[in-house]
Amino acid sequence: MSLGLDSRREEEVRVVGFGLAGACVALQLLQEGKRVRVLDDGKLGSSVVAAGLVNPVAGRNFEPSWQVREALEVALPFYDWVGEGLFREVPILRLWIAEKDRAKFERKFEVVKDWVAEVNEEGVLWKGGGWLNCPAFLKRAKEKFLEMGGEFVNELDGEAIWCAGAAGLLRGDFEGVAHRCAKGEILTVKIEGWGEERILNRSGWVIPLGDDLYRVGATYAWDGFDRGPTEEGRKKVEEILRSFTGRGFEVVEHVAGVRPIIQNSKPMVIYQKGKGWMVNGLGSKGVIYAPRLFASLTF
Ligand SMILES: Cc1cc2nc3c(=O)[nH]c(=O)nc-3n(C[C@H](O)[C@H](O)[C@H](O)COP(=O)(O)OP(=O)(O)OC[C@H]3O[C@@H](n4cnc5c(N)ncnc54)[C@H](O)[C@@H]3O)c2cc1C
Repeated sequence: MSLGLDSRREEEVRVVGFGLAGACVALQLLQEGKRVRVLDDGKLGSSVVAAGLVNPVAGRNFEPSWQVREALEVALPFYDWVGEGLFREVPILRLWIAEKDRAKFERKFEVVKDWVAEVNEEGVLWKGGGWLNCPAFLKRAKEKFLEMGGEFVNELDGEAIWCAGAAGLLRGDFEGVAHRCAKGEILTVKIEGWGEERILNRSGWVIPLGDDLYRVGATYAWDGFDRGPTEEGRKKVEEILRSFTGRGFEVVEHVAGVRPIIQNSKPMVIYQKGKGWMVNGLGSKGVIYAPRLFASLTF
């Protein structure tokens, strides 16, 4: 392969995309002493709109996310290295959906007990989760990349490490990679005086941002990828919010993006001759998995 991915400092490594995946890969390459050139087309990737939630036990079935402990052991120190305070640990209250739900949790207790801070009438309080300020991370990652000698370029030739997110999956950049990307919409709302400091999760979630601001999400849709935020999406997210609080709110921001999901729902790192490496499939858990993917690049 002609990526120049050997141990010599003068060899350059090319990266396409500077979302979560590309930023993590590019910075880790610089840490290893490589010369790194990045091409990013500046389009709105999903990392720009992501809520940044890290929930070790997301979903209805009380299943810890795939390899979540190992992934967070790499991810959290990495985010701290990029910038202090980018990741904030916040307790996550998973509210009971029904009595049956609580019984399900009790059956699963042994599997999830390391993440349990407290169990009460409202639900289970997870520890070890929180949220990454994704826009601030991308900004700081860019600054750090430049400080460490990385270069942004307007074109690249030859094989590269493709961190192109949903755009790359929808284009079919890599042969034989079937996707099931999902569009998502989220709202940022102002709720005066609510004072909720935990992340709330049931069917959907609310993240407290401070200053009476909360991020709420998210919808899942398998079409309309190019349509951006929609009225229908907004209504669905408002319904999610009403399931958590009866308080009045003002919508401050409404954004949409496309989650890069590969058929088996796991991140994927593969090599194809002539094209290079694909680092993709971060799905709805990019914050958990992005920093650990670098270790799978075997050059
Ligand atoms: C509404 C929503 C909410 C989400 N919430 C969360 C959450 O709470 N927690 C979480 O962990 N994850 C969340 N996600 C998922 C998360 O956003 C993704 O897993 C992650 O951002 C994917 O990062 P990426 O770098 O692979 O892709 P992207 O962020 O899309 O980055 C790819 C970059 O490559 C560029 N690019 C593509 N093709 C080319 C090309 N040919 N040439 C040059 N540049 C190119 C794009 O413009 C883009 O900048 C959410 C996603 C959505 C849509």
